[in-house]
Amino acid sequence: MTLSSCSCGACGSLRGMSRREFLCTTAIGAAAAPAAMASLTAAAQAQPAASAGRPILIKGGCVLSLDRAVGDFERADVLIEGTKISAVRPNISVANAEIIEAANMIVMPGFVDTHRHMWQGTLRNVLPDGSLDDYIRVVQRTFGAKLTPDDVYIADLLSALGAIESGVTCVLDWSHIHNSPEHTDAVIKGLAESGVRAVFAYGNPQTASGQWSDAPRHKFPDDIARLRKQYFSSDDQLMTLFMAAPTGAPEVILQSWKAARDVGARISIHVGVGERGRGGLLERLNSAGALKSDTTYIHCCTLNDTEWKLIRDTGGTVSIAGYVETLMGHGNPPTQKAIDTGIRPSLSVDVETSVPNDFFAQMRTILSLQKNEVWARRLAGDKNPPEFLKAREVLEFATVEGARANGLERKIGTLTPGKEADVILLRTDRLNVMPMNNAVGAVVTSMGPQNVDTVLIAGKVMKRNGQLVGVDLARLARLGEEARERNYKNANVPLSRV
Ligand SMILES: [Zn+2]
Repeated sequence: MTLSSCSCGACGSLRGMSRREFLCTTAIGAAAAPAAMASLTAAAQAQPAASAGRPILIKGGCVLSLDRAVGDFERADVLIEGTKISAVRPNISVANAEIIEAANMIVMPGFVDTHRHMWQGTLRNVLPDGSLDDYIRVVQRTFGAKLTPDDVYIADLLSALGAIESGVTCVLDWSHIHNSPEHTDAVIKGLAESGVRAVFAYGNPQTASGQWSDAPRHKFPDDIARLRKQYFSSDDQLMTLFMAAPTGAPEVILQSWKAARDVGARISIHVGVGERGRGGLLERLNSAGALKSDTTYIHCCTLNDTEWKLIRDTGGTVSIAGYVETLMGHGNPPTQKAIDTGIRPSLSVDVETSVPNDFFAQMRTILSLQKNEVWARRLAGDKNPPEFLKAREVLEFATVEGARANGLERKIGTLTPGKEADVILLRTDRLNVMPMNNAVGAVVTSMGPQNVDTVLIAGKVMKRNGQLVGVDLARLARLGEEARERNYKNANVPLSRV
């Protein structure tokens, strides 16, 4: 049975909905009716299939499809054949299917992160108290400048597996650690080995001075042409290609944008970051005719009104990393500004050096900050304040809008027949959420990574019964610790963990 949805996030019961309906709805305005290089290249292009050719049937879960045409279900099944979702409805019966029991689970699309610097996977929590200037000095110029290909391989692998474990099935790796082509190959190897749906965004090198010329073997941005040919010859594969464009002088930016567009790669760029983001950069890039719909703008905290309109009018997408923006002085996360401009933002973790790797924290950050902003305006006497953001809207930012910003909206972001099967199952029988009264509310307000029971990416089971599948944790821990020892030694930083 497909449920009707409430037009108001918090008052489903007021509109006469039954408890059974209320559990699984509260939509906003939704009319929801119803290792060697050869093998490495192969891995990057792999499309894992559902369990040795057998269909997978996710049975009896509370389904939040996030597709308004498919709707939500108190109890329904999701059928996966090969890499794709083939049906979402109650009472599906298929001979020979592998059954995944989903009673006491919420079944929904995997979270989509649109900006994470995954080369910092071995530098997690190194900078709990730092500002953006501290981050640039410590993470980029002290540690980053010295990282080897072996270091970035394990860093990316750890970051990617951590993402999968917490229910993030697709992540854009904003990868600005390319001091040599070997660094690039190692990062791609780590991503491919993880099995995550990765969007690899190729970026600049890191040096102690900040000058790229101090990394004599870097080939940024032109090596993107090799990458397109060697690893990303098709867009119909698990890993896809972006340009991680630097922020700086327009001529440097435009050079990287041209290199991207010459090979048909989409672009991601940091803009509107603190005081340094107030220079009207997007107006200058627009004067060169460079703004197009292939670009995602990250942060956007201190952009001017003209720049916001330029993003909207050229069809760009936005990535808000709310938690880090509050920590490091980027400016207020511009959720309301995006909405006022007519842009639905996506969300991102950004840096694991200061930020938790899961999307539950990101969603709650955005929700609480936007609401606080509205309450503050009310308290200040504003008679026409904006609407409060709804939990379901935040859930859409974390999935649907992430897919759009990553250029994958036709493949992922909702549980829609025909789309790739990137699916997560979240336990509702845990002490942080039981008894579950409202499915969207449970995910956005109550849950954490401990509720992520099962994760599928392109129909392949990556996590089951709360454990990653086929991952040698002891090996990862050893490689991670060895890399950490090297990182500190090479950066000439004393290692002290307390
Ligand atoms: Zn960033």
